[in-house]
Amino acid sequence: MLVTAHMTILARCKLTPAGYRQLDQRLGALNRLYNQALENRIKAWSERRQALSLYDQYRWLTHLRAQGREGLGGFALGPQRGMLKRLDEAFKGFFRRVKAGQNPGFPRFRPLSRCVTIDVTKVGKSMVKGGKIHVRGLPAIRIRHSQALPPGEALKALRLTKRGRHWEASLVYAVERQALPATVRAVGIDMGVRKRMTLSDGTTYAPHKRAWKRIRKAQRAVSRCQKGSHRRRKRCARLARCRRREFVRQRNACHRASTRIVREHGLVAVEKLNVKNMTKSAKGTVENPGAKVRQKAGLNREVLSQNWSLLRSQLAVKAAWAGREYVEVDPKHTSRDCSRCHARNNPGWSETYRCGACGLKIDRDVNAAVNILAAGVLAAGASTWAIGPCVAPESCMGVPRHSRI
Ligand SMILES: [Zn+2]
Repeated sequence: MLVTAHMTILARCKLTPAGYRQLDQRLGALNRLYNQALENRIKAWSERRQALSLYDQYRWLTHLRAQGREGLGGFALGPQRGMLKRLDEAFKGFFRRVKAGQNPGFPRFRPLSRCVTIDVTKVGKSMVKGGKIHVRGLPAIRIRHSQALPPGEALKALRLTKRGRHWEASLVYAVERQALPATVRAVGIDMGVRKRMTLSDGTTYAPHKRAWKRIRKAQRAVSRCQKGSHRRRKRCARLARCRRREFVRQRNACHRASTRIVREHGLVAVEKLNVKNMTKSAKGTVENPGAKVRQKAGLNREVLSQNWSLLRSQLAVKAAWAGREYVEVDPKHTSRDCSRCHARNNPGWSETYRCGACGLKIDRDVNAAVNILAAGVLAAGASTWAIGPCVAPESCMGVPRHSRI
């Protein structure tokens, strides 16, 4: 079975010193275009009560290009339209949130330091050729990538992002993928802090430990500097590099784990956690202050550093590519119910789950993962899933819940 999917390839950009300068200049021009477009929208509304649409702004851009302002005429249309599109999306998001009764901030004017992306909205098939990116008006950009690139016709989007001193290109291709051979093995995944993931077959994935020492050192170095100084700017850049490196490392670890899980299982069931609600501050209000605020802050930090959302989205995307099933189940009571007899116990903080009704003694995360798996299999509705090798044969062989399925 062939599955059409979008594949993003990240590539490191290499330019000549003059090329870097030219790219920065173009980014500056695009940033001014964004700010001007924002000003036009504000003025049109305050003076004429006219709401400018994206297409109004495209027409205005055509006018600017014809006049040759800021060298916009000699520069490909795609990135300029991309900037106007970003502004349009900012407005759309703003009004959507207002409608939903939230309290969003109005789209802001952007300083150059916050403008780091060139979106090429209209891509051509010969834009990426011979190890280089060619966009009219931009210098030739050599790219380094670890994967072979699909043919140029498949290129759907191109984005250049400035990260500190470097530029990174993300190339999105529409590709046909061969679905993986079918398997009947199913797996439930419990996500946690002490172990990042525990599978229902007993496999565990180690938690993410950040290189806090390195980051803290860089943070302290920043805080010793005078605000606005050159030294501070350099040290901020160093801190950003530290954080970026950590993120990339973690993203790669998530990729390795999610690929392995999807490759080995036909059905992947995870809990639907609301990370945002879980990591709310315990601060409370002035009249009604919360308890154990620092402890909760530490837990929140740990929870957020496990990248659960990233893992879940990677699993979902890869499952779709591979023709696998992916289900999210309600995590309610999954860590309290017994996976053998469904009695509800209170495991407290203990690592071991003990059932008062049937005497099951099992790792608490594995117990939760087995419950998630059972709920996932029910949600998927098929009857052909094999639950896989059991970790505690004496405790969950002949499980009524499983034999029912
Ligand atoms: Zn039990």
